[in-house]
Amino acid sequence: GDRSGQRSSFRFFSAEMNRAAEERAMLEADLKLALRHNGLALHYQPQVDAAGQKLLGLEALLRWQHASLGAVPPTRFVALAEECGLIDELGLWVLGQACGQLADWRRRGVPIPGIAVNLSASNFQNAELPAHVARLLQQHGLAPRDLTLEMTESVMLAPDPAVLAGIHAIHAQGVHLSMDDFGTGYSSLSYLHRLPISELKLDRSFVQDLAHSETARALTTSVLRIGESLALNVVAEGVETEAQRRFLAERGCPALQGYLFARPLPAADLENWVFELSSR
Ligand code: C2E
Ligand code: MG
Ligand code: MG
Ligand code: MG
Repeated sequence: GDRSGQRSSFRFFSAEMNRAAEERAMLEADLKLALRHNGLALHYQPQVDAAGQKLLGLEALLRWQHASLGAVPPTRFVALAEECGLIDELGLWVLGQACGQLADWRRRGVPIPGIAVNLSASNFQNAELPAHVARLLQQHGLAPRDLTLEMTESVMLAPDPAVLAGIHAIHAQGVHLSMDDFGTGYSSLSYLHRLPISELKLDRSFVQDLAHSETARALTTSVLRIGESLALNVVAEGVETEAQRRFLAERGCPALQGYLFARPLPAADLENWVFELSSR
């Protein structure tokens, strides 16, 4: 009757939930193994001047090629790392890997101006972060100016004093701080004077809509003016077309990043891209 039908659909639902929980637990275990046994990699995407001719820096982007699932999107496994307590370790791995790679390029004369690393909001809650950053820079013989830390506006969702203190300590060391996905969060403008940031990354969604949205064009122009008047670097994300590049160049956007120039590339491919750019 009704009751047994209910019961069996409940059982079915709970079996589904168990499977989802099991899958997650397995993915967490796999992520931990990947993190500790060289199963993660960084790819590097160039940032160029508005003419697309000069390399200004690189953004390091995390990649995980899972044995049976294939490429797992970083947004997915970064969230997973946060939920299972691996995020500090993951953040440190990314920082160490990026600094080591930059130092290696410098030693071999590959002309890389600097490197940007993404950290999640919880990484900034770690009171040890400023000390870790300082130690890594020293270990790899890098200057603070070589490194940019990208944070998203979610850092300001719960701006507890410890987070703000950490951000100021990192800034005091001379490391650049960058606001990622600028314009997508809440009250983007309110923290501009509260955080010692030196760069805005104009979110890809604005760039994508430039061709067909007057609003996107107006907002993009406004962000560039804010950057100019506050003396902040502005990097436009997700530039895919020549028309987008031209619009941004005409409005004085200092830096561009996107598939029009290069996708995020493994270190060796990035090196080739850099040499091709400089021999053009
Ligand atoms: P993000 O920091 O905003 O990175 C830019 C994303 O846009 C990257 O996606 C990049 O591959 C993609 N992209 C670049 N140019 C273009 C373009 O022209 N068109 C399009 N459609 N996309 C473009 P990805 O690599 O999948 O990373 C997604 C997000 O995952 C990142 O967004 C960042 O929030 C997070 N993430 C990546 N690596 C790390 C990391 O090492 N640590 C942390 N905490 N988060 C990371
Ligand atoms: Mg980023
Ligand atoms: Mg971004
Ligand atoms: Mg983004």
